[in-house]
Amino acid sequence: MNILVINSGSSSIKFQLIEMPSEALICSGLVERIGHTDAVLKYKTNTVAFQETSSIKTHKQGLHKIVELLLHVEKGVIKSTSDIEVVGHRVVHGGNSFSNTTEITAQVKQKIQEYATLAPLHNPGNLEGILVAEEFFPMAKQVAVFDTAFHQTIPEKANKYAIPNKFYKEKGIQLYGFHGTSHQYVSEKAIAYLGLKSSKIISIHLGNGCSMTAIRDGKSIDHSLGFTPSNGLIMGTRSGDLDHGVIYHLVNKLGYNMDEVKNLLTNESGMLGLTGHNDLRDIEAEAEKGNRNCILALTMNAYRIQKYIGAYVATLNGLDAIIFTAGIGENSSVIRKLVCTDMNFFGIDLDETKNESKSKELREINSAISKVKILVIPTNEELEIAKQAFRLVN
Ligand code: ADP
Repeated sequence: MNILVINSGSSSIKFQLIEMPSEALICSGLVERIGHTDAVLKYKTNTVAFQETSSIKTHKQGLHKIVELLLHVEKGVIKSTSDIEVVGHRVVHGGNSFSNTTEITAQVKQKIQEYATLAPLHNPGNLEGILVAEEFFPMAKQVAVFDTAFHQTIPEKANKYAIPNKFYKEKGIQLYGFHGTSHQYVSEKAIAYLGLKSSKIISIHLGNGCSMTAIRDGKSIDHSLGFTPSNGLIMGTRSGDLDHGVIYHLVNKLGYNMDEVKNLLTNESGMLGLTGHNDLRDIEAEAEKGNRNCILALTMNAYRIQKYIGAYVATLNGLDAIIFTAGIGENSSVIRKLVCTDMNFFGIDLDETKNESKSKELREINSAISKVKILVIPTNEELEIAKQAFRLVN
């Protein structure tokens, strides 16, 4: 069965065509900078690697380009759009309406639309991807896999905020959690690798968005993002943890309105606010040259992660492994080293040579004396979505 996985963000669409159940990757690609005249389309099969820069103004145009490539006489991999039997979509916020992968109906789309207020950077793009895919692949089953679903096992003591009770059940104000597909994928890989029946794992997903999950026996029991994807770690453009008193001060004393506050904390803060850059590669290069803001921002970033490790060791009452994943977690030996420095009380001891090694495979970077395994596991949200969509339709 051919499953097309679409992971559409605010300005990008990642896609993979995967044959299930063999998990064979037929093609993959990415459209970046949607909305710009210099949008980039990348596409790869076993025999073809193609890249093009052109004006792509909308998700619809982006997906149209992808479909053209899939059907292309030379570069293509399918003969007709009906060769795609299932389209699996990543959807960031499913609130507490969805604890499982779901076939998309009008009602499901309505809910995704409703939750857009809670994930404004993501849900609108996810919904756009669904609407366009329905148009291009009318014969295919459309399936939604929610980032929030993996976190439905977080107990009440951890997902409830200490505000009046009526806001919890009646208004749905609680911790939902995100990046669930990624945390689930890498923790399942780690559990298989460690061969443990019972396991205590902390998964650290560091991309543009960053989050950590405490995972006991394969189940999420606590997580650093909350009601929206803004809590916890320092991210590319998001502040993470912040005293909410700052918001009242911005509004009451500094004359900000709510939209400006939201924009400040969501789009202008985090590593961007601290350094002027949001790509970690640029920040590392500047830090290397001695830029103090960049050095401090890297230190602050790692310190926040260390604090969450401490909290989650308490939550788990132990620790077998920590996992680094996503763009920064998989690639930045600098951040990994800062995080693992002075953590020997927790049994975390890094092998610096192994930390510098590069690989696309799961690898262990702890020293021989480390009690805790330190794993780098490339995430593959698209494969996890294909697996879940396949399970659902079968
Ligand atoms: P998204 O959350 O959008 O899926 P990714 O998981 O692709 O993001 O991660 C993007 C981040 O990964 C960016 O901040 C980028 O700088 C960082 N990154 C990618 N490659 C490297 C690298 N070699 N060294 C350091 N950071 C990297």
